[in-house]
Amino acid sequence: MTNTPSDNDPSRDNFEREINTDLDDMTDDKPKGMALHTRIVLGLVIGAVAGLSASAIFGADNPSLIWLIDNITAPIGALFLRLLIMTVVPLVFSALVIGVAGVGDPRKIGRIGLKAFGYTLVISAISVVIALTLTNTIRPGERISPETAVALEAEFGGQAAGEMENALIEHPNAPVLTQVIETLVPINPFASVATETPDLLQLMFFALVLGIAATLVKPAVVAPFIRVLEGIYEITVKIIDGIMKMAPYAVAALLFSSTASFGLDLLIALGWFIATVLLGLGIHMFGIYSISVAWLSRISPMEFFSRVKTVMLTAFSTSSSNATLPTAIEVSEENLGVPREINTFVLTIGATMNQNGTALYEGVTVLFLAQLAGVDLGLAEQLAVAYLAILGGIGTAGVPGGSIPFIIVVLASIGVNPGLIAIILGVDRILDMCRTTLNVTGDITAATYVARSEGYRLLGGWK
Ligand code: ASP
Repeated sequence: MTNTPSDNDPSRDNFEREINTDLDDMTDDKPKGMALHTRIVLGLVIGAVAGLSASAIFGADNPSLIWLIDNITAPIGALFLRLLIMTVVPLVFSALVIGVAGVGDPRKIGRIGLKAFGYTLVISAISVVIALTLTNTIRPGERISPETAVALEAEFGGQAAGEMENALIEHPNAPVLTQVIETLVPINPFASVATETPDLLQLMFFALVLGIAATLVKPAVVAPFIRVLEGIYEITVKIIDGIMKMAPYAVAALLFSSTASFGLDLLIALGWFIATVLLGLGIHMFGIYSISVAWLSRISPMEFFSRVKTVMLTAFSTSSSNATLPTAIEVSEENLGVPREINTFVLTIGATMNQNGTALYEGVTVLFLAQLAGVDLGLAEQLAVAYLAILGGIGTAGVPGGSIPFIIVVLASIGVNPGLIAIILGVDRILDMCRTTLNVTGDITAATYVARSEGYRLLGGWK
């Protein structure tokens, strides 16, 4: 179901009523009488409290606790994550082709793409400015004791070595335009998606070409193809609804796994670093996004956050923009009324490119480790870090821990020992949960901005 741009459309009331009914179906679990998001929050709290208590009582390296994580809670979490990611390719492909074929105007598609890309650049730059300002003011790298740093390096050094081996593989230095073309245009669209981490940008490009070409073929010939895709879309949405029913339990398992294997002493040792990251993410989430949705999307920030809370909870517990994409697509269309052709297009670009939390985290982490290593970065180097962090937000894969290889490469390029990444590896997952929440929320702010600027009024938005 798609929105229409007319505010005076008499069918709008029906549209809103219908959408809200769908929403009730999706978010309410009637037999138990508790909304899905409330049950996810419960799962989250229970998982975190149980995990933290278990690690405090038995110790994070207790063999029985490790067995429980390896054999019970981690597999449940992995099942949830894999099921969600399983739906990404059919959902994105069918929704994009249907949406683009429905619009039928390549200029409109181009305009939507440009707006999404422009928004991504500006909002990512803001997140990096916040990162650099906070890290230069708080200077967390100078507040950590050398003994703690040495101990953390020793503890996580092995893991860091593996990460570095993968990250520092030389990439041929092709000219920029060639890189852009190779990033976007698939030689074989089936090969782009026939991997564990499908290339969503290439899939999107193929779907756009197909959708535009479909508008040039006789409607009678194209209609059966579109009907099939509509079937795939509706069926995939039903599958996602089914998967989300297990979300409260899966979220509890995911939270248990990450908190139980995480010693509380790490929180204290890296307290200033963690505080800097969380402060930055908080400012961006509640300051910058609030301004964005109120000013550009014309919706009250409270209303916006309340309508996307299921997406935020899914992002927080999975630490993956890709795994959250199906939920984001569904919620943004059903709860905010962003029309499908804008929704899928902008959210798919967002999941891969608009990662403000990631850009912010990469900025803070590189500066923190440079401070710790005693490397004094001048203005030019800081600007280079800012530029690289913006690129990092655009280029990082939307998977758990996607930032790590990028941080390693940036550290090496500014002359800081990349092995220092070991120091933050122990807290990366917890911070990943928080930055992914920002990433995905930012994608929806982009979708609502583009929809509003194209003349659509959002559900719950101002006139
Ligand atoms: N986990 C993040 C995401 O999926 C990427 C990162 O590691 O920063 O959005």
